[in-house]
Amino acid sequence: MKALVTGDFGREYLVMLPDRTEVMASRKGKKHDVTCGDEVIVSMTGPKAARIDEVLPRRNVLFRKDAWREKTLAANLDQAVIIVAPRPSFSTTFLNLCLVACDAAGIPATIMLNKKDLPEFEAAYESIRYLERIGYTIMSMSAKFDIEPLRPVLAGKKTLLVGESGMGKSRTVNNLVMRDVAKEGEFSEALDAGKHTTTYTRLYWLDKDTAIIDSPGMQSFGLFHLEDDDIAYAMPEFRNYFGECKFNDCAHMDEPGCAIIAAAEMGKIEPQRMAFYQALIEQLRELRISHPEWKR
Ligand code: GDP
Ligand code: ZN
Repeated sequence: MKALVTGDFGREYLVMLPDRTEVMASRKGKKHDVTCGDEVIVSMTGPKAARIDEVLPRRNVLFRKDAWREKTLAANLDQAVIIVAPRPSFSTTFLNLCLVACDAAGIPATIMLNKKDLPEFEAAYESIRYLERIGYTIMSMSAKFDIEPLRPVLAGKKTLLVGESGMGKSRTVNNLVMRDVAKEGEFSEALDAGKHTTTYTRLYWLDKDTAIIDSPGMQSFGLFHLEDDDIAYAMPEFRNYFGECKFNDCAHMDEPGCAIIAAAEMGKIEPQRMAFYQALIEQLRELRISHPEWKR
């Protein structure tokens, strides 16, 4: 029977059956190859329990990898919405890492600047305006008072919500989803009294064609799984210049005849993005040397 993975608790999963009921499911052989949004084939092992026999091919998958762990965030997405807010202050590096990860995975990303009601809002918006000039969409809302600006963005799509802790993601999800508290309790009971409740990923249907996936708040977004040229290719404003560098394997760091460095010097590439890119490549190179055991 075909099912949709609607909860990823690390070792156990929640799957939605064709009749739209949800049951707990384990993975055959305890493989860690299942993520929220996956379409799977399941067998029932009890009235309220299933086993995942097979993961069907994915349309896309969002992945992160850093020093401590690698994590498949979600699969088969139409888009990601990255939530940032003026207070606590957000990391523009984290935001750019999310954008690169999404682009590299072929997942369109939109930026949602939350906490519009705060006095620091305008300054925060100004600080990321350069992303708008590249072509990213920046929307704004106040999850505390009005999440309506988010609804049309989500309509008809399967959207992953990502953000650093404190940006207002829980508030947003709570406002969008009428959480069935009793049912959530039932699932967390099945997972040893809610031991995993802060780190799980959940997919919620808002209506029959709209779903959001709520991932745990993050502190970092490692891209160790990407090659240098994957990263350059995931910077949309770099693409116009590909093939124009003097060296075929140009990494756009300090090579002579680099078309991207030249474009940056002419003001055609935002300086913040060039600095972000070069710092990231530098950091990944150092990590590859200091941790040769890490496989990509
Ligand atoms: P999460 O860590 O991203 O899940 O963030 P939360 O949803 O827990 O929100 C973090 C804090 O920001 C909480 O104290 C929220 O009440 C507050 N918050 C969320 N949205 C807004 C907003 O639009 N305006 C203001 N002023 N505070 C907000
Ligand atoms: Zn170059």
